[in-house]
Amino acid sequence: MSNVYNFNAGPAILPQPVLAQAQRELLDYQGRGMSIMEMSHRSKEYEAINNAAEAAFKRLLGLDDAYRVLFLQGGASTQFAMVPLNFLPAGAVADYLVTGAWAEKAYEEAGKLGQARAAASTKDAQYRRVPRADEIELSESPAYVHITSNETIQGIQWHAWPEVRDGPLVADMSSDILSRPLDATRFALIYAGAQKNLGPAGATVVIVRQSWLEQASKSAPTMLRYATHAKNNSLYNTPPVFAVYMLNLVLEWIEDGGGLAAIDERNRHKAATIYAAIDGSGGFYRGHAEPDSRSLMNVTFRLPSEELEKRFVAEASASGMVGLGGHRSVGGIRASIYNAMSQEGCDALAGFMGEFARKNG
Ligand code: PMP
Repeated sequence: MSNVYNFNAGPAILPQPVLAQAQRELLDYQGRGMSIMEMSHRSKEYEAINNAAEAAFKRLLGLDDAYRVLFLQGGASTQFAMVPLNFLPAGAVADYLVTGAWAEKAYEEAGKLGQARAAASTKDAQYRRVPRADEIELSESPAYVHITSNETIQGIQWHAWPEVRDGPLVADMSSDILSRPLDATRFALIYAGAQKNLGPAGATVVIVRQSWLEQASKSAPTMLRYATHAKNNSLYNTPPVFAVYMLNLVLEWIEDGGGLAAIDERNRHKAATIYAAIDGSGGFYRGHAEPDSRSLMNVTFRLPSEELEKRFVAEASASGMVGLGGHRSVGGIRASIYNAMSQEGCDALAGFMGEFARKNG
């Protein structure tokens, strides 16, 4: 058993039962005398994992054959390019809702490949919130509208999806996928790097509406076309077999734990515990996000000085709470409390925060 509480932003905490099962199966997968890492991706064993993972994803999101679930590589960062390469033809405009560092990256990448427009930006509000409905100015007929459902660095999250009329909605859900119930049918495409809520780094999940896929550009390089991977059941080239195996175990763990409604309830309770420690500190801790946009996955806050922040991180770490330093670009503190983080871990952090404030406030 792990004896630390892991608050890393990604790669991040994985469910202990999943790690234990992977350990049990590591040397001898299903009596084959070898690890799943050592088997052909064309083997019936791997094919079963690949199919099970797609099926579990669809069950969790209530999706039917109108959607495909693909397991790719290159991280969410490659999706920043793949989305416009496939869906932003010359002469069209893609609208980006710029809510933080990751949305900015997606927007800038699209701008290298086609015409991208910031239909809203909360940069002037220091990315403390998502835009209000009256701040979003969509293009006449955008090729798609891109959002970042959870900004991992700033710690802000969309809690109600923006109204996009008939613009196909595309979302980077890297840091909150499968953390709450989701009507995925509102989206034409969803993508996520696996290394926060889904498994180890190395796999990238793409959920794409079949009818939209059929409209994609055919001129993008083979590996960068969604159609290539859809046609080949995510087995066009060698997939990240171990990462997908782990992801499949994580999906089983989510289903066994009661699915997205149950996980959402636990996640809300966990986040409330830490936000209460911020709000109850008499101003010692200052949350970055405005209350309506607070992330349930990445809780970001500041202390009265950088020196105190350094001490906070060091003392928390000495008490077994690791990974609490904010992203290097913004500093401060960030507690990432993905699906696999327990309530116990959040209680421990809240307790530590109270004590630290009393000693240093
Ligand atoms: N989008 C979001 C919201 C992220 O949090 C991250 C990684 N932290 C990325 C994109 C980039 O993902 P990757 O490292 O898998 O390319």
